[in-house]
Amino acid sequence: MTAEVIYGSELAANLRSEMKIEVDALREKGIIPTLTVVIIGDDPASKSYVRGKQKASKEVGVESNLIELPSTTSQQELLNLIDQLNEDKVNHGILVQLPLPKHIDEQIIIEAISPSKDVDGFHPINIGRMISGKDTFFPCTPFGIITMLKSKNIEIEGKKAVVVGRSNIVGKPVGQLLLNENATVTYCHSKTKNMREFTEDADILIVAVGKEHFLTGDDIKTGAVVVDVGVNRMANGKLTGDVEFESAKEKASYITPVPKGVGPMTITMLLHNTIKSARQFNNL
Ligand code: NAP
Repeated sequence: MTAEVIYGSELAANLRSEMKIEVDALREKGIIPTLTVVIIGDDPASKSYVRGKQKASKEVGVESNLIELPSTTSQQELLNLIDQLNEDKVNHGILVQLPLPKHIDEQIIIEAISPSKDVDGFHPINIGRMISGKDTFFPCTPFGIITMLKSKNIEIEGKKAVVVGRSNIVGKPVGQLLLNENATVTYCHSKTKNMREFTEDADILIVAVGKEHFLTGDDIKTGAVVVDVGVNRMANGKLTGDVEFESAKEKASYITPVPKGVGPMTITMLLHNTIKSARQFNNL
């Protein structure tokens, strides 16, 4: 069996052109969906993510403001800025780029952002709504993954879904969204014993570990749907996933590549959430 490759890059491009039409219509009504990104310090990876977010915002007509602060910014200064952004009438979305310098408590910052502007979907209120099966801002990478599966009409209901990785931003919420779609979900993590027992039983396998070629074709069931979230830089400088693509592709029914897989969907769902927020602020 050779898998069909799900290119998130293509789906993201299609979704963004639809969003552009939606944003143009909002702008005609005088509504300009606006996202403010706050970045602290000089981490090159964070800067590159932020550039990607700005470029994508521009593409769909979402206004993107960038606030760059030095790594010496105190937690209180950042909290004061978030208060202002929460209150102003211009912003619909606030995103504080993670990770933050060690002297700032990430959870305190996440909880300071108004849930109504939390387009990352990390605030406990939005997580709680997601767990309760309610509509809300879903975390962007998990939401992008579900959108990719649905774009291929992949059945989720009743399937055995295995999520490898349990981070708050990817593993846990993607498992929750799969559960909301009526999959039977198992999480694997660093303390899981005999992990292959789980992975080779999965109809849908999501891998978000952050280790180059952590799983291979030998770890998956013939016909499985494999979503590779990992982004790892190889010795030759190129990016690769957590799954060894070539061997997995020979066994899976569908597989996402790295790059051009989940990554482009993450930014696209951030724009989706920002537009949704602009609509909500205007009771549309
Ligand atoms: P993370 O916070 O480091 O979490 C990694 C998870 O992998 C943890 O739950 C950890 O288990 C688990 N793990 C580590 N070693 C393991 C092992 N030997 N066996 C089983 N599980 C193991 O990472 P993350 O933020 O979720 O990101 C994961 C990967 O996705 C990274 O490569 C990241 O760059 C990528 N990513 C991509 C996107 C995108 O848009 N494409 C977005 C976010 C992240 P414990 O909990 O037990 O420690």
